[in-house]
Amino acid sequence: MHLFCHEQPETLVVETEIADARPGKVALVTSPFYPGGGGQLADRGVIRWKDGEAKVTGFEYTAGKLWHLLDTPGEITGAVEAAVDPDFRRTMRQLHTDTHVLNALVFQNFDGALVTGVQMAEDGTARMDFDLQAADNDRLRALEGPINELIRQDIAVAFAYVPMHEAQAERGLIRSRSVAPPPTPDGKIRIVEIVGLDRQACGGTHLASTGGSPPIRILKIDNKGRRNRRIRIGLAEKS
Ligand SMILES: [Zn+2]
Repeated sequence: MHLFCHEQPETLVVETEIADARPGKVALVTSPFYPGGGGQLADRGVIRWKDGEAKVTGFEYTAGKLWHLLDTPGEITGAVEAAVDPDFRRTMRQLHTDTHVLNALVFQNFDGALVTGVQMAEDGTARMDFDLQAADNDRLRALEGPINELIRQDIAVAFAYVPMHEAQAERGLIRSRSVAPPPTPDGKIRIVEIVGLDRQACGGTHLASTGGSPPIRILKIDNKGRRNRRIRIGLAEKS
């Protein structure tokens, strides 16, 4: 799956055309929206046209099309402007990049522990679940300093597309079945790299470098079942 927001996560307003319309929903020739997935919430925003404006309330995929669900029942045609809510997207990019930093440190310091779930929230917090049977919660809590040091170092974030069979052969590249994106039509998978720190398959939107995030706090660590550890982080300026 190729998304415009993967290639251009900074481009939040696009002049485009309606590709297809049904009452209350449209497909766009070019969409700047992230439709959600991998723990990252779907973008919010608006679609504007000659005589009006509608809020985008959700997304659905049918017949290979990404439909933008609108808060208006009418059908729209012609040229439109599609605009993503910039504050919401920024929060998601920050949290998403920070969850990769956390994930990298847990993977490196806790014996290649894998992610079992991740969910970002609108309030600037995110939770990440790891398969961590014997870990000491104080050691996990102590990751807050190193995470913030990596944010402060403003490390570049890059992406690439790798053939699926290569991705499956590289240890740790597919960190979790629940967050790996679907492959592209030509059998490739998107890899997000925090340069020199971490490489993993991911289909979300990230910062251009880690310094785009404010510092984070580790808010809470819960044991969820015998093996599962849930770590909640929050952007320091929001929490
Ligand atoms: Zn990601």
